[in-house]
Amino acid sequence: MWGRAVEASQRQSFPHRFQHDGVEGLRTGRFDFGISSSCILYRLGSTVIDTGPPNQWRLVRRFLSERDVNRVVITHHHEDHSGNGARLGRDMNVDVFLPSESVELMKRGFPLRAYQRIIWGVPVRFEAQSVPDELELEHGFLLRAIPAPGHSSDMTCYLEPNRGWLFTGDLYIASKPLFLRADENLGDQIESLRGVLELDFETVFCAHRGVVSNGREAIRAKLDYLVSLRDEVRKLHAEGHSISAIKRMLLGREALLSFITLFHFSKKNLIEACLP
Ligand SMILES: [Zn+2]
Repeated sequence: MWGRAVEASQRQSFPHRFQHDGVEGLRTGRFDFGISSSCILYRLGSTVIDTGPPNQWRLVRRFLSERDVNRVVITHHHEDHSGNGARLGRDMNVDVFLPSESVELMKRGFPLRAYQRIIWGVPVRFEAQSVPDELELEHGFLLRAIPAPGHSSDMTCYLEPNRGWLFTGDLYIASKPLFLRADENLGDQIESLRGVLELDFETVFCAHRGVVSNGREAIRAKLDYLVSLRDEVRKLHAEGHSISAIKRMLLGREALLSFITLFHFSKKNLIEACLP
């Protein structure tokens, strides 16, 4: 979750529903301060990608009850994506698939910070199957699991190769992110962005930004931005500038997001991650 603060013109109140080429989206969240505080789940026929935050279950259930749901595939374990996996499996009797690395984690549960509990709620632990490399869906759709670590080690994108769709979870979010979560791996993220650009896709379905029609260009822009930011940070650091000075020069002061998350997300994290 989280990119940079969304521009005022892109803000849409939520819950908010939309459609793109037959894919339905539901954006939900407890607080409305832009894409950072809301998360989208997508429905492709009877398949759902991600489950929404746990404190939005009432809305998610209403949306999913409109028609049969046969399976749910989850992009990564973060609570705004996996948060209703337990309820979907239990209350709606749906097959739930997780990236193999998160199967054990979701069974055990994982600790949450205060801001995560307040914004998203607390997910219930659950048992799920490991997602196969390919899932054949109804109406000739296919979902291919594409590991894309960096944002989290289990981050997995799903490619629909016939339509050129890439469901990116939290791989993209913004072309020019200003913050990094403390446990993100920037090097892995850069490699994953590079990796998905090898795939044949055009449209990105981002769990926070929404549908990005020129998705390939957007992913390329993020890759170029991160690589040049990393180069610039290393150059300035080699010249003797401190991390705080580099942060001020390249990204400006910390913003509301840093304070709300008690610096779990921060500009300083992003600068530090650029150093070897
Ligand atoms: Zn995430």
